[in-house]
Amino acid sequence: MDNMKTTNLTRRRFLKALGGAAATSGVRPVVAASSAGKRWRRNVVFVCLDTTRADHLGCYGYSRGASPNLDRLAQRSVVFDDVLSPSSWTLPVLASVMTGLYPHEHGAIYFRTPIRDGVVRLPEILRQGGLSTAAIGQFPFHFDFYKFQVGFDLFAQKWSQTASKTTAQALRYLSERAGREEGFFLWVHYFEPHVPYEWQFDSAGFYEKGYRGKTLKVFDANLILKLEAEGTPRADAELKRIIDLYDGEIHCADKYLGWVLDELGRRKLVDETMVIVMADHGEHFGEHGIVEHGNSLYEEAVRVPLVIHAPGCRPGRCGSPVSLVDVFATILDFLGLPARETSGCSLMPALAGEAPPERTLFTTLDTVTSVIFVPDGRDPSKIQTQDKVIHDLKAVRRGRKKLILDARSGKYALYDLAVDPGERRDLLVDGKPPGDLRGALDEWITAMQRYRPTVAAPDASVIEAMRSLGYIQ
Ligand SMILES: [Zn+2]
Repeated sequence: MDNMKTTNLTRRRFLKALGGAAATSGVRPVVAASSAGKRWRRNVVFVCLDTTRADHLGCYGYSRGASPNLDRLAQRSVVFDDVLSPSSWTLPVLASVMTGLYPHEHGAIYFRTPIRDGVVRLPEILRQGGLSTAAIGQFPFHFDFYKFQVGFDLFAQKWSQTASKTTAQALRYLSERAGREEGFFLWVHYFEPHVPYEWQFDSAGFYEKGYRGKTLKVFDANLILKLEAEGTPRADAELKRIIDLYDGEIHCADKYLGWVLDELGRRKLVDETMVIVMADHGEHFGEHGIVEHGNSLYEEAVRVPLVIHAPGCRPGRCGSPVSLVDVFATILDFLGLPARETSGCSLMPALAGEAPPERTLFTTLDTVTSVIFVPDGRDPSKIQTQDKVIHDLKAVRRGRKKLILDARSGKYALYDLAVDPGERRDLLVDGKPPGDLRGALDEWITAMQRYRPTVAAPDASVIEAMRSLGYIQ
C-alpha cells in the first residue's frame, strides 16, 4: 500500500494525542500500558444498518429526525461525506468490509460464490491478535456456505431474527466482555431498512395520516415488481408512503443502535472502543427509473453513510472520497495490528483531522440470477442450475468525476458529482470517455479478471432463503 508509511506515522501521532499510549503492533493480546502505567485495551463495535441511504440520516442533512441516536454519535465522531460502496448489494459489500478487498478479489460476487478459500478475514486476524470476535444480528448471508463465520468466536446472524433480539444479544455480549482483559470485535447487523418495509409502532409519526393507497403497511418485493412493470412509482402519494415506511424502518434500527451505544456508556467502554456505523448500500425510490438496490451503480445505491468514533478523535467531517474497503485497514490501524496488503487504506489520519490521500476508487455490480430446475420434473437428485447475467456494471471515481461502464452494452456514462450529484447529465457527447478514467477502469477490470470465483452449489436451505430475498427464481 502506497500510503502505509504515512499511515503508520500518523497513527503514532494519533496515539500520542490520545495520551501517550504505546502502539502494540503484533503483540497479543491487544492490551497496552499507558504512560500512567494503567492497563487498557481496545475494542471495535461495528454496526451495519443495511440499505440505509446517507441522505435519509440527520447527520447527512435529512430533516425528518429518522436517526437521532446516530446523529448524536456523529457529533463526537468523524462523518465521512463521500463514501463509495464497492457494490450495491449486501453479499459482496460485507465480504469487502471483512477482507479489505474488492468483490472479484474476495470472490463473493453472487449467491453461488462464497468468499474464496485462502482469503484472510478480519475476524481471523483479530482473533490471532488476542481479541474476542462476535457477529450478532440479521445478516442474510449467514449460512456456512458463504464462509463469513470464519474467525468468529460467536457467529449469531440470521436474517429472520428480530432487531430487538439482536439488540438483547449484543447488550448481553457487551456486559460479558466489559470486565475482561482482552479486547473484542463486535459486528451488529440490522436489516430493518431492507425490503419489506414494515410498519413500525415506534415510528408511527412518520406515516401520513389519511393515506388511502396500495402501500398500506408493507412495501415488499412483489409490489416492487408490479411498480417496475407499471414504470416505477408515479403517484406522489404512493412514493411518499413508500418513503415513510422506509424512514420508519431507519428510525427503528436507529432506536436499537441507541441502546447499543448506551450500553457502551453504561459499561464504561467508550474510552477504549472504536465505533463504526455504516450502511452496505443505499436504495432507489424511482430515481433513474429504478427501485430497490442491487441493480445500478448510481449514487442512490452506492453512496453510503460512514460514521467513525474513536477515543480521542477530532470530531468533524471528511469530504474526501473514501471506500468501504477502507474499514478493514482502519480497524487494524486502530488496534495497533500490522497492516495487510489490501485494496483499502486506513482512515485513522482522518480521525485526527488529516485528509485521506487522493486515490482512484472502484465499484462493481455483477448480478447473476439463477433458475433452479429438475430437467425431467421428477428426480430431485438431477437438480440443475442455470445462471443468467443480469448486470455487469463497473465504475471508477477520481475526485468528483465518475465513469460508469455497462459492460454488456459497452456503453459509458460520465458524471461530475460536484455539480450533478443526482447523475442527471451524462457528459459524454460522443460516447467516448476521457482517456485517464477509461485507462484506470480498463486496468482495474483486467486486474480483476485474473480472479475466478468459486462457483458452488448451495444446499436447499440457502436456496430457499435466497429465493425469499428475490435473488433466485
Ligand atoms: Zn444490504
